[in-house]
Amino acid sequence: MMNFNWASIALLSCCLLLIALPSCAGERSLHTPEILGENSHSGRDQFEIERQEMVEYQIRARGIQDQRVLAAMSKVPRHEFVESPWKDFAYSDRPLPIGHQQTISQPYIVAYMSETAEISPDDKVLEIGTGCGYQAAILGEIAKEVYSIEIIPELAARARQTLSQLGYENIEVKTGDGYQGWVEHAPYDAIIVTAAPEKIPQALIEQLATNGKMVIPVGGGWHQDIIVLTKTEDRIIKEKTIPVRFVPMRRKLLK
Ligand code: SAH
Repeated sequence: MMNFNWASIALLSCCLLLIALPSCAGERSLHTPEILGENSHSGRDQFEIERQEMVEYQIRARGIQDQRVLAAMSKVPRHEFVESPWKDFAYSDRPLPIGHQQTISQPYIVAYMSETAEISPDDKVLEIGTGCGYQAAILGEIAKEVYSIEIIPELAARARQTLSQLGYENIEVKTGDGYQGWVEHAPYDAIIVTAAPEKIPQALIEQLATNGKMVIPVGGGWHQDIIVLTKTEDRIIKEKTIPVRFVPMRRKLLK
């Protein structure tokens, strides 16, 4: 009976999401129920309350344990990364539009990818798909240096501005094609990819440090799996983890 109820709510959330968002990024495919009807206040304190609830009910309750990731998710003001009409939904359990048919990932997915990459305070991290810069900010809290690449120039410019207004000095954003990586700063201790290629780009494997981890959604169309790639001294280990739905990784730099 319990399962049936959850399934119905999940199905309803899924339908609402499909109506509201023509394309989604960074969403777990196995839908979990949304927390609806709690976003009507937009005061500063209300955002703080909603952020702590997000961490408890969407992130900690689903098994994220890394204290540094939990602290970062509790701290970074997600509502500053979305535009006015969406601010009241910033802490809800879903991706949201950020313009140019792109979306900010569901909070749980951001936490999951950040934890899975096993990032240490001294690490240098590469992110592909800056979007609005939210995932980059979380990485900026838990790593030493973050390099992030975005293919849509307007999104890269806006992310740069938001991140600088929030005071992040350890995050660099460039407009470019993530398939090439960012060779000048390689090797990276971790690479997080937030758009889905059909197969793992070779340049990214090459730019990953020995003992580094890459967390990347892989697959054609709208359904992919997160692959965790570990590079050891003599081999590459790939592990398929959760099913997700990200925007496809594009091949061309957009004007
Ligand atoms: N991490 C983002 C959400 C990612 S949405 C956040 O926190 O908001 C995926 C992003 O990947 C989009 O902004 C899209 O424009 C970008 N993207 C798609 N293909 C890309 C490519 N080849 N190189 C770099 N960025 C790409």
